[in-house]
Amino acid sequence: MSIKSNYKYLLSDLTALKGVGIKTTNLLKKKNINSIFDLLWKLPKSFTDRSLSSKIKDLKIGENQTVTVTPQRYHFPRLRNIPNRVICSDDTGKLDCIFFNSYEGYVKKILPLGKEITISGKISHFKNKYQITNPKYISEDSSFIKQLHNKYSLTDGISEKVYNKIIKQIIDKLPLLNEWHSKEIIKKFGNLGWNNSIKELHKPENIGKFREKIYQRLAFDEIFSTFLVNSEIRRKIKKIKKKRKKININLQISLINKLNFSLTDDQINSLKEINKDLSTSTKMFRLLQGDVGSGKTIIALLAAYNTITSGYQVALMAPTEILARQHYNLAKELFSKNIKIELISGKSEYKNKKIILDKLKNNKIDIIFGTHAIFQKKVSYKKLGLIIIDEQHKFGVNQRKRLSDKGGDDCDVLLMTATPIPRTLTMTMYGDMDISILREKPKSRKPIKTYSKLESKIEDVIKFIKKEINSENQIFWVCPLIEESKKLDHTSAVKKFEFLKKLFPNQVSLLHGKTDVNEKEKILSDFQKNKFKILVSTTVIEVGIDFPNANVIIIENANKFGLSQLHQLRGRVGRGHKESTCILMFKSNLSENAKKRINILKQCNDGFKISEEDMKIRGFGDILGFKQSGVKNFKLADPIHHSDLFLLAEKEMKRIENYNEDIKKFKPLIKLYDRADIINDIA
Ligand code: ADP
Ligand code: MG
Repeated sequence: MSIKSNYKYLLSDLTALKGVGIKTTNLLKKKNINSIFDLLWKLPKSFTDRSLSSKIKDLKIGENQTVTVTPQRYHFPRLRNIPNRVICSDDTGKLDCIFFNSYEGYVKKILPLGKEITISGKISHFKNKYQITNPKYISEDSSFIKQLHNKYSLTDGISEKVYNKIIKQIIDKLPLLNEWHSKEIIKKFGNLGWNNSIKELHKPENIGKFREKIYQRLAFDEIFSTFLVNSEIRRKIKKIKKKRKKININLQISLINKLNFSLTDDQINSLKEINKDLSTSTKMFRLLQGDVGSGKTIIALLAAYNTITSGYQVALMAPTEILARQHYNLAKELFSKNIKIELISGKSEYKNKKIILDKLKNNKIDIIFGTHAIFQKKVSYKKLGLIIIDEQHKFGVNQRKRLSDKGGDDCDVLLMTATPIPRTLTMTMYGDMDISILREKPKSRKPIKTYSKLESKIEDVIKFIKKEINSENQIFWVCPLIEESKKLDHTSAVKKFEFLKKLFPNQVSLLHGKTDVNEKEKILSDFQKNKFKILVSTTVIEVGIDFPNANVIIIENANKFGLSQLHQLRGRVGRGHKESTCILMFKSNLSENAKKRINILKQCNDGFKISEEDMKIRGFGDILGFKQSGVKNFKLADPIHHSDLFLLAEKEMKRIENYNEDIKKFKPLIKLYDRADIINDIA
């Protein structure tokens, strides 16, 4: 295949570029630019017009100008702090080129005496003479300089000239790839092909409005490559034939009757969807998405119960041991006595662990709870029918596919997440899965009263929590980590702990990032058992843990958090029947903008709405650790800003799936957009 139509050139190492040495390569690598393709997204910010050249006598002082001169004489003073000088002229006057920190040899090479040279730079006037200090562009070929030159953000230690040169080189060699999109799609983007889009994107004169238009096609490419990968994983999973599970609805009903609440409509619908998946012959790969406190656990346990009563084993994985134990305890309470329930704990003795592993292998355990330990290599199951994963929003596409493979063909997969996100982002992150959503919260749930307070008014807050403690309630006090010179500092949490300890002796504990795992589990479980009243912490309290007695959360430095994070944090309280309160503390008066944002929190309890607002303000990358999720790979696409492109991509993907179109033609697209490790085997 000729280089012209081969995308592989774009994936080559930077050293494939002419005139790019180790030093530049390393500087670019620091900026996460590792291949030629990566460099395509280094876009000019603005440009300098060097097309107009003038004679020396017409030069304008203080402006960037281009002029063709002949070097006449060198002046190398060989003294520190005195620059090298080249006296140049044209037929109208004289101009000095001044060089600080340049070797004689270099100066002689770029400005040889007696030759016509075109130079460009900022003009100054010194002792009655024009001069240019450290000229930006110097060339014997005046046509190279007399163009528009792109300006780049130059925090990287690489000069504009180098960027212009290497990017020009890449654009000149840009392979002509076959169009991968359908005619209809391309038409929507003004029939711009990939190559032309990239070329236009880099033209200085397109900076501004028109560039946004070119963006669209390229952002669409990015989105579509993600959708293709998702669709391919989905197709592979759906192809797997499994044994149907025979659900005993009567047993399910009698379990639901044992609950001291009735299920919400959304819970009922989700359960129906899951049951349908369990009882068909295609493998379930489903996400149960719902805001904090929407009641996902009971749905997962009902699904587990149905799987067990149809003769299979279930494994439920939680991110922390304390959460695994909470689910385990709930299952013990709910399930009938004949169901064998176990918990693998880091604390279990070796002997006990070995017994559990043997039992799992011999189908003597029906459901096992634990952290990732339950999927280690040495753990094998006799008849695993369902894997449930709780609160693993950092679990990427690859990880869950691997887990599904580990479960074997007959094993269904249910993932749960409390991260409500807009649909465009859900499609991107979980497009490989089917999705059930719990939008409504249990009716008995009271909204968390949310207030903002100046830190100087801490006395009021203390008074308030005294009252709460007197009524046997518990309090979370969150102090965010402060980042000082890249070192994470938890002194503010320590100080607050000391302060509160004096006011409430023996009633306060402290939890921060450096607290050892066992210690942390102990503190959390003591807090759960109401052994002390106030838990001071950095943000390390995990999602999902029930503290039925905690009904107040104080969040200091609340401006350090985004709206979604604040919403997640306040979800730590209000899971019981009591009225609950969230107090957001601020160091100084809020700006109008900040007030608007905080008002969203005060008025709204819907995590989906809040995250949408949050993304409008902060961009999608920042919220709730999506950076680790693979979505970070987007260079242009934005789930909020480009929501129409996401919807178009969804439609097009469905069309391709419905017509069972061959996706081979998309191979370059998928490979270029860097998700290829997921589907190596698209021919
Ligand atoms: P999350 O969706 O955040 O995982 P949980 O499943 O932990 O939420 O549920 C939070 C609390 O709400 C639990 O104490 C649970 O028993 C309770 N709960 C769940 N469903 C309902 C319901 N339909 N009505 C009332 N309370 C419910
Ligand atoms: Mg939960």
